[in-house]
Amino acid sequence: MTQLILFKDIDEPGLATLEVYQRRGGYEGMRKALGMSRDQLIAELEASGLRGRGGAGFSMGKKASFIPKGTMDKYLVCNADESEPGTFKDRELMQKCPHMLIEGMIIAAYAVGANRAFIYIRGEYELQAQILERALEEARGQGYIGEDILGSGHSMTLWLHRGAGAYICGEETALLDSLEGKRGNPRLKPPFPANQGLFQGPTLINNVETLATVPHIIRMGGEEYAKLGTPGSTGTKLVSVSGNVRNPGNFEIELGTPAREIIYGLAGGPHEGREVKFWFPGGSSSPVLLPKDLDLPYDFDSMAKAGSMLGSGAIIVIDDANSVVDVALKTAKFYRHESCGKCTPCREGTNWTVRMLERIDSGEATPMDLDIMASVQEQIIGNCLCVLGDAMAMPVGSMIAKFREEFEAHIEAARERNDALTTAVAPPEALIQGAVA
Ligand code: SF4
Repeated sequence: MTQLILFKDIDEPGLATLEVYQRRGGYEGMRKALGMSRDQLIAELEASGLRGRGGAGFSMGKKASFIPKGTMDKYLVCNADESEPGTFKDRELMQKCPHMLIEGMIIAAYAVGANRAFIYIRGEYELQAQILERALEEARGQGYIGEDILGSGHSMTLWLHRGAGAYICGEETALLDSLEGKRGNPRLKPPFPANQGLFQGPTLINNVETLATVPHIIRMGGEEYAKLGTPGSTGTKLVSVSGNVRNPGNFEIELGTPAREIIYGLAGGPHEGREVKFWFPGGSSSPVLLPKDLDLPYDFDSMAKAGSMLGSGAIIVIDDANSVVDVALKTAKFYRHESCGKCTPCREGTNWTVRMLERIDSGEATPMDLDIMASVQEQIIGNCLCVLGDAMAMPVGSMIAKFREEFEAHIEAARERNDALTTAVAPPEALIQGAVA
């Protein structure tokens, strides 16, 4: 039985209000943190082993330790863009328990000495933005945000900024550009945001779930938190399960739980008469895995070892009623649409991939096109300015590699269908002769 941390009281009526949140122990982590030194706080975060929950899985404590000490302007940014297809857990957290995120941000800002903090929320999250605004007002009214918070000497502002609905603004440097009022384009790294981020100042960026976990770590102690999960993937994780399952939704699991237990146990498995054909373990940008991988522990290292990634924790299940060509085409179209166009491998590669998949679908391709397409994916991976190019090439490449026979059969079937159509619409000989006479 998973020890629930983030979702322990999630369905408590009124949890979005300060009153109920505090009744449930809310802001105790902040009070404790404000009595600790910054070094102690970062040490607790490092001891917890918490890895970023937004996709990259980098140690949160280490990231915080990269922020230089000193009195220069420093920033904390919460990435609430959550635009990876299949991911919807941050939405539920912000909607039902906005103060958990705010409390985590106050602690994180204090830990790195940031006096200005922002939540960058995707434009589509209208309701969640309104709920967060109300919660921020309550926190300001209570003196948790503002000057000299609870006499600690730490002051900070915290503003909500709404994005305009571009996938690329979930990439941390594009998000920073967007926050500065520019077009959201990824920046060349290095410099990394920890040294030169928002308005050129040192910036800590974390996603919603990561920051919401911080108060719990401070309350429990880093070492206690690290007892949950596996040594390389500590703690619990919110997982969004969607696709061909009976009970899609968000679930909190202990990292290391077998994927089968999540997909079949929590999400109810595929619909009657259907089988899992393949699954994305970490959102639509992760290489797909097969039914034989369902007994793997769901954690960062096991997913990486299986050739994929845990990503944002979004499991998308595809059953055997679906064509892999169709899924590959939809995936590629999404990333082509969202490519910012700044670098060639992604801008051209996503477009060529869509065009080749369309050829396959329409019966104009040959099996050789599959080799060309696989090689295009290989040339995109690792050669782009940001991860968006890889986000298309990795899943599409994995689908070609794992379902080559189905792609070939699709090409063959589409060509036969075209041949049959050509014969059917060809004018009968007699009519041609009649027309000539
Ligand atoms: Fe833009 Fe794609 Fe290059 Fe990222 S990989 S910078 S989205 S063109």
